[in-house]
Amino acid sequence: MEKVLTDIVEKNRYLLKEGKVADYIPALAKANPNHIGVCLVDLDGTITTAGDTSIKFTIQSISKVITLMRAVMDKGQDYVFGRVGYEGTDEPFNTLYKLDLPHITKPANPMINAGAILTTSLVHGSGDEKFQRILELTRIMTNNPNIIYNEEVYQSEKATGDKNRAIANLMRARGILDGDVEEILDAYFKQCSIEVDAEDLGNIAAFLANGCRGLDDYGKSSPNSLSSILLGIMVTSGMYNYSGQYAVEVGIPSKSGVGGGILAVVPNKLGIGVFSPPLDENGNSIAGLGILKSISEEFDLRIF
Ligand code: GLU
Repeated sequence: MEKVLTDIVEKNRYLLKEGKVADYIPALAKANPNHIGVCLVDLDGTITTAGDTSIKFTIQSISKVITLMRAVMDKGQDYVFGRVGYEGTDEPFNTLYKLDLPHITKPANPMINAGAILTTSLVHGSGDEKFQRILELTRIMTNNPNIIYNEEVYQSEKATGDKNRAIANLMRARGILDGDVEEILDAYFKQCSIEVDAEDLGNIAAFLANGCRGLDDYGKSSPNSLSSILLGIMVTSGMYNYSGQYAVEVGIPSKSGVGGGILAVVPNKLGIGVFSPPLDENGNSIAGLGILKSISEEFDLRIF
């Protein structure tokens, strides 16, 4: 297994040169463009790795899955999806203009920034408590109590987050978002700055692959409904504007982030964490995509 995985990493290494590390948040530009790694976690906990699987990077948009889970447990599915849509979009992740159209009453889905900022606002707690609850859930899902956020990336997100600030303020002005905008954005910037490695992502993916089982308290939700929500949303909007093609070509519910991570969930079978910073034009890790295509083919993992 390890040999197959190592061969897959090597086969896709050439892609590193075809992507570009995210630099719109200055601290992200410091990522090493040569890193590439993958970690498989099966449901009995067996971990197989290849490449750079213990390099830390920021989770970025992959945190949106965890925050959605936290919000649904706190407020219930009907409440959360009364405020944010289920539908995919062909707009970029940080799109804003539709939020000003009179007939629009909620962001398209919880994976674009507007939707994610909204779900962050729905997590219980005030001040730093929202973020702490998201962090705590991340530690449980990764099975890693040492997970923290990266202060430099957080400060960099905060210093350059004008578009996110505009999104949040526009939503508040239109009555879509309630609460203190700076406080909500602070939790959002921190959740994007949570540091993980590919193995942590593999563990989160395995938790989801195992039907979200194992928590002490599901609040207003249940393992089954969390699985349907999270995997459904990942399929329809987890891979930015490549989500549809990805569902056809790779066929594994996944979520990527601009830090170069991809979380991929094979229901009832396997969790996969991939890391490689150079991104393609959609914002997905370019070698990460290649690796997932290869893994999906090699082990026949398409769910459709
Ligand atoms: N922190 C990023 C932002 O809101 C998340 C981007 C991403 O991974 O898509 O701009």
